[in-house]
Amino acid sequence: MGDLLRAESEKQTQRGAQVRAYVQSGDILPWAIAESIFRDHLEGVSAPLVILDGMPRNLDQVVHLESLLKTRNGEVCRVVFLDVGDDELIRRIKSRFQCAQCGMSCTQVGHDPLPECRLCKGTSFLRRSDDQAGDVLVHRLEVYHQMTRPVMDYYRDRGLLFLLDGTQPIDVLQEQLIQMVKIEMGDVGTTSHAVSDSANAPALS
Ligand SMILES: [Zn+2]
Repeated sequence: MGDLLRAESEKQTQRGAQVRAYVQSGDILPWAIAESIFRDHLEGVSAPLVILDGMPRNLDQVVHLESLLKTRNGEVCRVVFLDVGDDELIRRIKSRFQCAQCGMSCTQVGHDPLPECRLCKGTSFLRRSDDQAGDVLVHRLEVYHQMTRPVMDYYRDRGLLFLLDGTQPIDVLQEQLIQMVKIEMGDVGTTSHAVSDSANAPALS
């Protein structure tokens, strides 16, 4: 969803300008705007399974999303939360850059110089526009805790929430996510050990 919103915010349209204002302030985008972007994007998607990243962000969006999905005979079948502490989140956000040429996201590892862009091989990078200001960052974390935690509680109560340790190496996490998708697609029968029900919250390692 973040990439969709960033793409939208670069358009010279009224909707683009609205999205730009919200992305820069760190506030949650009103549903009406998020939905129109999401709806436009869903048009033409015929896949049986859609993975939403970064949405819904609050309980209000949960209600709207579920009724939108219902109109397409769909439902939320699983919610995955990548669990990462605040300090680590801040560290990661501060090490995110964007290719100056093509906009590809890139993360700096430790103090290593940034590698060349995976997409266009460019070597100049910018900070992502919504990641620059420290106070915006802190505000985003506050909004996140106030609004997003109740979403987790909601889906935990319905038995749909799964926690993954977001500090694991990316290839391990990727494998766990792929396993989950396979389970939802009905490809795999018995790999539920790859995920953990957060009601009992055993951390995966
Ligand atoms: Zn690039």
